[in-house]
Amino acid sequence: MKRKVGIMGGSFDPIHIGHLAAANEVLNIYELDEIIFVPTGDPPHKEELRAHAFHRLMMVNMAVLSNDRFSVSDIEIKNPGKSYTLNTLIEFHKIYKNTEFYFITGTDAVIDIPNWHEPEEVLKLCRFIAASRPGISIEEAVEKIKAIRKRFGGNIEILKVPMLQISSTDIRERFRTGTSAKYLLPECVEQYIIKNGLYREI
Ligand code: NAP
Repeated sequence: MKRKVGIMGGSFDPIHIGHLAAANEVLNIYELDEIIFVPTGDPPHKEELRAHAFHRLMMVNMAVLSNDRFSVSDIEIKNPGKSYTLNTLIEFHKIYKNTEFYFITGTDAVIDIPNWHEPEEVLKLCRFIAASRPGISIEEAVEKIKAIRKRFGGNIEILKVPMLQISSTDIRERFRTGTSAKYLLPECVEQYIIKNGLYREI
């Protein structure tokens, strides 16, 4: 039988409880063996991230410590050049034989797959789980996902995650304005942000 491994892809700028709860939901629902968090290095579609890759990686490492089914890969951060999901999946398939991969990320990112590098190949190498925020209509996402599957094939499912009401954007804004972000992210991550003076400026 194939092992089932989740790849949790995102900027994690910073990682928060919503990401951890989403990963745990997917682990339970799809009966995965483990989930690997893969913070983006130099995303092809973004000019810059707000916290340096080193800090984002440190925060993700600290956040997953308490779950023995969660781990972290620095594959996208340590590799020079742009981070393409295709390259990440090819590398993971080389390392983990006889494994089915579930790529978990936000719905916004998933509906943008047609603009990714070689979407058809990416969709052959994993199943996608699009984690959806509450309060955001998913009708449009459902239509876009249908169109992606028709054009490129593959398997994409939407999962509603109530805890994703928490967002990295809101957390960064709280640190910038000095508003407490307690309980929205692991305490060790909150302390790390304060100690290193992250997100004080936009
Ligand atoms: P992002 O900016 O970090 O996030 C986009 C949206 O999705 C935000 O609303 C975010 O919420 C949410 N989100 C991000 N990661 C999530 C996760 N694992 N679970 C639940 N929600 C999540 O994402 P991104 O930088 O666009 O990229 C997402 C993934 O797609 C990355 O792995 C990236 O490498 C990949 N990607 C690949 C290509 C390519 O290969 N050409 C292009 C684009 C994206 P928060 O802000 O609260 O996190």
